[in-house]
Amino acid sequence: MREYLLGNTAIAKGLLEAGIGLAAGYPGTPSSEIIESLVELKGDLPLHIEWSVNEKVALEVAAGASWTGARAAATMKHVGLNVAADPFMTLAYLGVGAGLLVICADDPFCHSSQNEQDSRRYSQFASIPCLDPADPQEARDMTIYGLELSERFNIPVMLRPTTRVSHARADVEVNGGRPPTGESHFVKNPARRVALPSHARPLHNELLAKQPEIEEELESCPWNQLTLKGETGVIAAGIAGLYAEEALMDLDLDHSLLRVGGYPAPKRLIRRLIEHVSRLLVVEELEPVIEEQVLMLAGETNPSLDILGKEEHIPRWGELDLLAVKNALARMNGLEIEQRGPLPAAKMLPPRPPALCPGCSHRATYYAMRRVFGKKAIYPSDIGCYTMAVGMGTVDTCLCMGASISIASGIRFGGEGEGICASLGDSTFLHSGMTGLLNAAYNQARITVTILDNSTTAMTGHQPHPGTGVTATGQTTVQISLEALARALGAGLVESVDPNDLEGTMEGFQRARDYPGLSVVIARQPCVIKARRGGARPRAFQVSDECQGCRICVEYGCPAIEFDGEVARINNLCTGCGVCAQICPASAIKEVKG
Ligand code: SF4
Ligand code: SF4
Repeated sequence: MREYLLGNTAIAKGLLEAGIGLAAGYPGTPSSEIIESLVELKGDLPLHIEWSVNEKVALEVAAGASWTGARAAATMKHVGLNVAADPFMTLAYLGVGAGLLVICADDPFCHSSQNEQDSRRYSQFASIPCLDPADPQEARDMTIYGLELSERFNIPVMLRPTTRVSHARADVEVNGGRPPTGESHFVKNPARRVALPSHARPLHNELLAKQPEIEEELESCPWNQLTLKGETGVIAAGIAGLYAEEALMDLDLDHSLLRVGGYPAPKRLIRRLIEHVSRLLVVEELEPVIEEQVLMLAGETNPSLDILGKEEHIPRWGELDLLAVKNALARMNGLEIEQRGPLPAAKMLPPRPPALCPGCSHRATYYAMRRVFGKKAIYPSDIGCYTMAVGMGTVDTCLCMGASISIASGIRFGGEGEGICASLGDSTFLHSGMTGLLNAAYNQARITVTILDNSTTAMTGHQPHPGTGVTATGQTTVQISLEALARALGAGLVESVDPNDLEGTMEGFQRARDYPGLSVVIARQPCVIKARRGGARPRAFQVSDECQGCRICVEYGCPAIEFDGEVARINNLCTGCGVCAQICPASAIKEVKG
């Protein structure tokens, strides 16, 4: 049966077809739709699906299920693997029960990420096999194969789709889902499951000993394909394999081609290619993982081989596309280079910096924060929608999930005497901000922490979390109180404010600023998009004749406020938060009744 599917949905289909019993993940673009598709597609199948509080927890939950006999998957984006690196590395030693797939979506070109990482490096580091799909069909097929491979070699397997694969749509051959495979029963085996040094040493040997067998298996997997033709060769990895195939066709070149989709990279196939060609281009996104292998093997088998790859021919950063690969091949063959013209749509569109939505309560929170703490204060912030408030002067740092509070403490203990007000979202606080708050309390950092609580994980598509009282599958569950949590972690003062009430919010910030210890402000308003989807009817506001043209409301930055000649105007993007009416010194912005 063929279905037109998003890459991430194809992965979800593959998981269901493979009979998984559990999937756990933390939302992160481009991986989020895997869990969401599973929730949609699972039907009556008895499997557990969850949004975990972070990627480390997701992988640990998946490991527990696998050890109990249920095939399991943990989903995350590349930066999430940094959070999950601890269990990831040791799971390679301890192995699996039923198949365990670590689905880690990479984001070359940082489309929606704070960095570019090549997770193939992590798989090498951990000695864990990695499957690198080129399209949604391969993503579905590799998902099923990866779980089988995991069981066969008693090792977690990584599936590493990139943004282009996760978010591409294609016709995919699929079958129906099936109930979880195998019996569920946890068998105690401390020598395999307890990573004590005395257990870890032999397990490390075991992990190393199985590598040649894994290499042998992947050598002949269907995604490592060698076509020997002319004396010039190309090796292309993952989605770049498709670009290379198409570019060779377009340029009518008779080159040999090795497409690589399974790691460890297939040494025998690489050797065969190296022996056959005199010149070789290696095409892979981000890191020179295969190129390094080629360099090593060429030293043994064909030292005179001319190897072209990173830096001069293929960039080590960003995303590849057909034109980039075509031009690399053209350069290599002395053919004419095709110039990259601006896309017609890009020509027409004015540059548009990312901005908070009209009526987003984060804007009001930051406005109040800056009014109270002032220009000189220091504002460490975090990963989420609110990072877009950088233009408001209230986002001075942003490192990684949950780092805002620890960085604020570091700035204080580093000797800074100015006011310090950190900010992070509700989901980010629950992901990894809690430990920073505990540390700040324990070490007596005099800082203010603002939790911008919009009651969802907004940036990745409104996923629930423990503060929302709803699970991934929509069931009502325990709702964690951020106030109680902040107090339990040691905050001396906890203020709850409604950002749409500007005066009340500023008073809350004043008390927090003046508190001689660790204070927390919880600024709570539901995400405007989610509220409107939930049926909330916006109030209407308009500017009256009393407008004096001072532009104070425009400077506030809501996209629903424009300047029209000498006066302000509210356009139909307005969501009726009413904050601009509180800011206008002439009281010219009024609610339209009736
Ligand atoms: S009420 Fe004012 S601030 Fe709120 S969304 Fe409308 S225009 Fe923007
Ligand atoms: S703040 Fe009030 S007076 Fe000033 S431009 Fe806006 S609507 Fe007009």
